[in-house]
Amino acid sequence: MSIFSHPDFDNHEGVYSFCDPESGLKCFIAVHNTNRGPASGGTRFWTYVDDNAALTDVLRLSKAMSFKNAMAEIPLGGGKGVILKPEGEFDREALFSAYGRAVEKVGGQYITAEDVGVSPADMRVIKTQTNFVAGLDDGDAASGDPSPHTAEGIFRGLEVAVKHKLGVEGVGGLIVAVQGLGHVGYELARKLKKSGAQLIVADINSEATQRAADVLKATVVSVDEIHAQEADIFAPCALGGAINADTIDDIQAYIVGGAANNQLKTAELGTALMERDILYCPDYVLNAGGIINVAAEVSGTYDYSWVDGKLEGLRKTLQEVFDRSASSGRATNLVADEMARERLKLS
Ligand code: NAD
Repeated sequence: MSIFSHPDFDNHEGVYSFCDPESGLKCFIAVHNTNRGPASGGTRFWTYVDDNAALTDVLRLSKAMSFKNAMAEIPLGGGKGVILKPEGEFDREALFSAYGRAVEKVGGQYITAEDVGVSPADMRVIKTQTNFVAGLDDGDAASGDPSPHTAEGIFRGLEVAVKHKLGVEGVGGLIVAVQGLGHVGYELARKLKKSGAQLIVADINSEATQRAADVLKATVVSVDEIHAQEADIFAPCALGGAINADTIDDIQAYIVGGAANNQLKTAELGTALMERDILYCPDYVLNAGGIINVAAEVSGTYDYSWVDGKLEGLRKTLQEVFDRSASSGRATNLVADEMARERLKLS
């Protein structure tokens, strides 16, 4: 398929493919937009059914990073890398070295970090080939695991949402249904519990739910029922697509907001939530805490007070999304897209 007629092509500034037969590397790097700074976004290492699936993923994810970084008001553009996982045996170090050389060839227009399937050890290998890398766990400005910062941003954003929707200060006494208790979900659940919320949780990993039951006194329900709980907030913190044609009518919560990227299976579902009087917190606005922390590392001198200021900015941006949605009658996800395009100076 040609790039320019691809349905997910959105005037991306650059789309690169790299191949290194010796290590088995096949990857795409997409730079969506650099109006705000060098493009940044993680690298995904995944088994794709074919090249086109990988291309689709890199085009969509790099655009989402432009929108996320613009809404978080950080000096980074949007980009993403995807590596097609080789079939059979391969030398992981050789593969990630070759990927580091590919990132280097993009010449600083793209700064990579971790995403699904990529470990801190892989990042260290990439770093041997290029300096255009962040999210490291050692070094002068290393910012480490972004997940606790993602959870903090979501927690602050949910406070804005409950004030807007329910007219209450803070989450004390509210019931929150958390789907997925991984790096972000568990940390979010811990913060909510500490602030007096009651938790209902689900995860495919029974150790994670047992820990939440033991430590956070959470009620555990099945993964098929978590979205349908009688809760004030439903927080999708597992994979994308939690809001879909099969789940939308069962959602009882007044507010939907969590960590997962692409929570709405299709954009129209944002309007469907609004029509059901459910306040949706656009995912890429709410979950930007991690990339904010990465941006602090990219700047060269990590300063938590800068991160904290940007997390506060996230509250203001979310409030603006809610206000514009209320005054225009348009769904919050559509309003967020409009605001991101304005900030990126895109038509
Ligand atoms: P993670 O892999 O640590 O956690 C995901 C959790 O979801 C795991 O515990 C997994 O067992 C569980 N899970 C998987 N399928 C499930 C299902 N059907 N029902 C219930 N639980 C299920 O990932 P994470 O880093 O916590 O990220 C969570 C989500 O947030 C992902 O979609 C990720 O892309 C997104 N996100 C993460 C960050 C970050 O800083 N880590 C930043 C932005 C967005």
